[in-house]
Amino acid sequence: MLSKKQIVTWLTLCHEVLEENKTWLTQLDTAIGDADHGNNMHRGFKKVHAQLSELADKDIGAIFKAVAMTLISTVGGASGPLYGTFFLQAGNKMAGKQELSETDVAAMMRAGLDGVKMRGKAQPGDKTMVDVLSPVTEALEQNINDGMPVIEALAKAVEVAEQGVKDTIPLVAKKGRASYLGERSKGHQDPGATSSKLIVECLYKAARA
Ligand code: ADP
Ligand code: MG
Ligand code: MG
Repeated sequence: MLSKKQIVTWLTLCHEVLEENKTWLTQLDTAIGDADHGNNMHRGFKKVHAQLSELADKDIGAIFKAVAMTLISTVGGASGPLYGTFFLQAGNKMAGKQELSETDVAAMMRAGLDGVKMRGKAQPGDKTMVDVLSPVTEALEQNINDGMPVIEALAKAVEVAEQGVKDTIPLVAKKGRASYLGERSKGHQDPGATSSKLIVECLYKAARA
């Protein structure tokens, strides 16, 4: 089970970790994009963080929907609407909840991932955030279905996310700005997959908090 407090902690940690990794994420986006991913993500989660105290009375679904609106309006680029859609769909799925059961955690990730795929039309292997969010969702669904406690399932999800990020390196980008580079996108780690990994890692840390 994850409490609402842990969900708020997750979003707080996202702000901290994206701030710490801002320069790195932007460097990754310098190689195969337009050198703004770290700044985009940091701008968005800084605004989210500033709103968290006002949101604490709302249910988890409503918190996620407010996060979505903030990300859509502040992050910009491709990743703003995509992460916005992730939290919008996760928010719809978690509507009215004051805490998340193990199954809810998997269902939240599934709803978010499906939203990202519908909005951005990327499939696994296209060298995007889907290369992390998709295997993470599958691992969570499987492990939670097998009765694994949420902390352990999230620890596994972090390992899967790390592998997903590494697996983007040899891929040729099929979606987003990096796809304009064609074969030259090979050999570089995808920035959005990297930020997704950081966000999953923060969820694990929040589950342990
Ligand atoms: P922009 O490319 O508009 O500057 P960002 O730099 O913030 O936006 O985000 C780039 C990241 O967005 C990429 O590394 C990739 O992971 C992700 N991305 C781009 N297009 C898509 C898409 N269609 N579906 C899923 N993820 C995408
Ligand atoms: Mg960019
Ligand atoms: Mg940009």
